[in-house]
Amino acid sequence: MNFTKFPRRNYLQGPTPIEFLPSLSKALGGAVNLYIKRDDLLPGSGGGNKTRKLEFCIADALDQGADAIITCGAVQSNHARLTAAWSAKEGLDCHLILEERVKGSYKAEASGNNFLFELLDVKSIGVVPGGSDMMAEMGKKADALAKAGKKPYIIPGGASNPIGATGYAVCAEETMAQLNAMRLAIDHIFVPSGSAGTHAGMVVGMIGVNGGIPISGVNVSRPKDVQEEIVYKLALETAARLEVKNTIAREDIVCFDQYVGPGYSLPTDSMVEAVKLFAKTEAILLDPVYSGKAAAGLIDLIRKNHFPKGANVLFLHTGGSPALYAYMDTFRQG
Ligand SMILES: *Cc1c(COP(=O)(O)O)cnc(C)c1O
Repeated sequence: MNFTKFPRRNYLQGPTPIEFLPSLSKALGGAVNLYIKRDDLLPGSGGGNKTRKLEFCIADALDQGADAIITCGAVQSNHARLTAAWSAKEGLDCHLILEERVKGSYKAEASGNNFLFELLDVKSIGVVPGGSDMMAEMGKKADALAKAGKKPYIIPGGASNPIGATGYAVCAEETMAQLNAMRLAIDHIFVPSGSAGTHAGMVVGMIGVNGGIPISGVNVSRPKDVQEEIVYKLALETAARLEVKNTIAREDIVCFDQYVGPGYSLPTDSMVEAVKLFAKTEAILLDPVYSGKAAAGLIDLIRKNHFPKGANVLFLHTGGSPALYAYMDTFRQG
């Protein structure tokens, strides 16, 4: 794939590591060999997957002469934190619209990512009720800023448009190059599936380089059929942008929705177990909303012998550990 024709900033410092997880593989019975791709270690305050997407989205904003970024997310959004971080670094104003998906969950004095919004000098935070039309809310903010003489640029939730998803096509190509260099035959890749740019971009990149490794997503909010359609649509749009000639089939998009629990960002017992297990066996910090639930899904599938014995499974760690500090009570009870 050729990424050179798109505006792109230079936020990565080379490939993120791929590591074997010997203690965790053993703790799960040793039937599969678990590997992890450490996108939690990406640069940007606190790390995580949005940095790959923002390399392209913020470059596009700068290309268009923007001086202010508007984006949206949940009240503990990692995406909002990383957008604020890279905006600060680029000298752009950052404005956030936060969706209170769980009623009463926004607290101005909250810890975790919320605290970091402040440190990263976000210029304004608007809080809207769950189910609001976030694009319309961001549009209103953009109009107000334009009236005040600014040049705002809107990045959609999770930076999950074809521009942002391009960052994860880059990740798939990077992963394949690493696996080839390591002579490591991975049988299956698992990713968290939220606003869908990570999942869609990975599938497009993997098919684009003819890597042939199946990729599954673990949902963090939506039912399987709904999420698969969202991922598929974004994958087709991203493939068109990247001029990928290989076909993306509907069957290439697979999601698991049994690990969402009561809803987006709401803790589950299996998430708590997964976060604790990764921490105590491998000293890797997951997050309560995305990687924790995705890991809970992967752990459950391993225990249910979903994978053939001896399979090599790669987990994409998308980051998010700053959100842990907003959930301390959950882990201390668990
Ligand atoms: C946003 C996010 C995800 C989900 O990625 P999408 O591209 O939105 O599907 C996963 N993990 C973390 C930590 C995130 O912040």
